Amino acid sequence: MHHYHTVGVGAGPANLSLAALFESAAPHQIALLERRPGPAWHPDLLLSGVRMQTSWLKDLVSFVDPCHRLSFLNYMVTTGRAWGLLNAQFDFIPRQEYAQYLRWASERLGCIQYDTDIDRISFDGGFAYHAGGEVVATSDHLVLGLGSKPYAPPELAGVLGDRAFFPEELTARLPQLDPAEPIAVVGGGQTGAESVLELLGRGFTRISWLGRRPWFQPMDDSPPGNDFYRPAYVRFLQDVPQETRRRLVDDHVLTGDAITPGTLRAIFQANYDGMLRHGEYPVTLYPERDVVTAEADGDGLTLHAVSPVGREEHRLAHAVLATGRQPAEPPLDPELRERIELDDAGELMVESDYSLRWKGPDGHRIFALNRSRHTHGIPDANLTLLPVRSATVINSLFEREIFTIRDTSVSTRWKVA
Ligand SMILES: Cc1cc2nc3c(=O)[nH]c(=O)nc-3n(C[C@H](O)[C@H](O)[C@H](O)COP(=O)(O)OP(=O)(O)OC[C@H]3O[C@@H](n4cnc5c(N)ncnc54)[C@H](O)[C@@H]3O)c2cc1C
Repeated sequence: MHHYHTVGVGAGPANLSLAALFESAAPHQIALLERRPGPAWHPDLLLSGVRMQTSWLKDLVSFVDPCHRLSFLNYMVTTGRAWGLLNAQFDFIPRQEYAQYLRWASERLGCIQYDTDIDRISFDGGFAYHAGGEVVATSDHLVLGLGSKPYAPPELAGVLGDRAFFPEELTARLPQLDPAEPIAVVGGGQTGAESVLELLGRGFTRISWLGRRPWFQPMDDSPPGNDFYRPAYVRFLQDVPQETRRRLVDDHVLTGDAITPGTLRAIFQANYDGMLRHGEYPVTLYPERDVVTAEADGDGLTLHAVSPVGREEHRLAHAVLATGRQPAEPPLDPELRERIELDDAGELMVESDYSLRWKGPDGHRIFALNRSRHTHGIPDANLTLLPVRSATVINSLFEREIFTIRDTSVSTRWKVA
């Protein structure tokens, strides 16, 4: 068992970026503990042909350290694929490519311990990481990079099982599903849309797509929408009172939690092709439907939905519940949990440098990545500002400006000084 300066729990993009930039600050002093058996990025959601929602420039390191050895460009050039990718002229690159980039970077980092499911983090003069009853590492500082897990609201969670399942299970379930039987996708976000596209591609002809929003809304990837995804805006947010900040961030939801226009076009075009082939549209869209209850029986399941003009029932063989994600619960020992401050909503209090407020001795800090949507904005759950967040954490940990975060050329004024 080894003692580290810093341990990151989870080896998703958040902590990979941190570990990559740690190389310049304190080589060999960070370890990442990861429950998966090897490098993987949302592997169960790598459905056919899925694309990134963000530019390939938004890699683990470049916006802070463009000469870093783990840049996406270095990956493309050294794997011999740069020209192929360039000439394929993707608007957004395949998600498979980004997943392979993360694998490539993970293999080069050499600080990741796989097959290590941390079930308890305790503190006794230092952080101790427990897996299967053993302490596998200790550290001075802790960085939580646990990501999220699929979520079903309580009114739908009861039907999860044979008849209803999360999109993560879709690929494994497909061989047992009959494409001629009716199937629903519940959820009007990107994962719901990708599930619909997958079913279309697999020849399903009776797909019902239900979403809460008034229409299946595209992501706002416009220049002003993207202005929320930059260090200058995150800095601005830090000085805004909490309640106002919450409202502002909630108003930005369509810049992140919505469907890429390319995916919507692909669905509408495949649906039209399907109509020409079969005489009927394989996908029926049901916008503005709130699925309020569901029950499953031996033959199928029934979804009860509320629309602006009344209640309706949808009888199906199966349903894919693409009803969102929620943060993974940190496996903190109760004593350690007690010492961490929560806000009025019971959420972790994340400071502007991503540290948590906790009652611990000097020299031992806790940081949480991808847990501060309401303090740092929508990009916190996104790849855009990964290196900026990592640089902020490292500068704070080492109490000096190891990385300079530059974003001074801004034409938007969110407040007048
Ligand atoms: C399908 C999908 C596609 C996305 N595409 C984009 C995109 O194109 N652009 C964009 O900006 N954002 C995208 N996002 C949003 C976001 O960028 C990703 O979810 C990203 O993976 C978040 O990184 P993370 O490291 O915080 O979490 P994760 O990637 O979820 O990584 C967390 C890691 O922690 C591990 N872990 C959790 N608990 C433990 C434990 N107790 N012990 C050990 N290990 C543990 C998990 O196994 C996992 O590997 C996407 C999200 C999804 C779900």
